[in-house]
Amino acid sequence: MLPIVALVGRPNVGKSTLFNRLLRKSRSITHDLPGVTRDRIYGECIMGETRFDLVDTGGMVLESEATPELSKDFEDEIFEQAQEAINEANAIVFVVDGKEGLTPLDRQAAEFVRRSGKPVLMLINKVDGSEFEAHMTAEFHELGIEFLPVSAAHGYNLHEVRDRVRRFV
Ligand code: GDP
Ligand code: MG
Repeated sequence: MLPIVALVGRPNVGKSTLFNRLLRKSRSITHDLPGVTRDRIYGECIMGETRFDLVDTGGMVLESEATPELSKDFEDEIFEQAQEAINEANAIVFVVDGKEGLTPLDRQAAEFVRRSGKPVLMLINKVDGSEFEAHMTAEFHELGIEFLPVSAAHGYNLHEVRDRVRRFV
């Protein structure tokens, strides 16, 4: 069995976009679905000599729901999926949204991630222009988790993500 790296974080931070970029495949799992899916999605990553399964976790949100009002049940479901993914993972990539900033759900997710005691890398996504980087990342320091600013959409720092992930699986 390959080592497992789980992508976790609240909905809409860019997990599925990162998943697709890291797999170097264009699997349109964020589009064309008439609802939400709560399942975990697996994809095999090959980075040089390193092979592992990358897992994309739940709470897939429709593009039209830019700022989704999530029901309590749905939030619970997302956390259940994320918790299961964390349990089975060897390492965790915890994704937050630098544009939106730190939210209560991020703090809650960070707590789950920390409690697992597993190696974790936090990606501050949507840092699309380097001029905003320091400003967008500042408030995430309080979580006390090692992080990298990235842009899944533009590919910024994804080489560095590959390097770091390769080292901790
Ligand atoms: P998920 O719910 O965490 O899987 O998030 P998605 O991958 O579905 O992305 C949510 C939204 O954020 C989509 O509209 C993406 O196009 C957008 N998005 C993802 N990555 C970036 C990024 O690096 N920059 C910007 N500006 N938008 C992004
Ligand atoms: Mg998704």
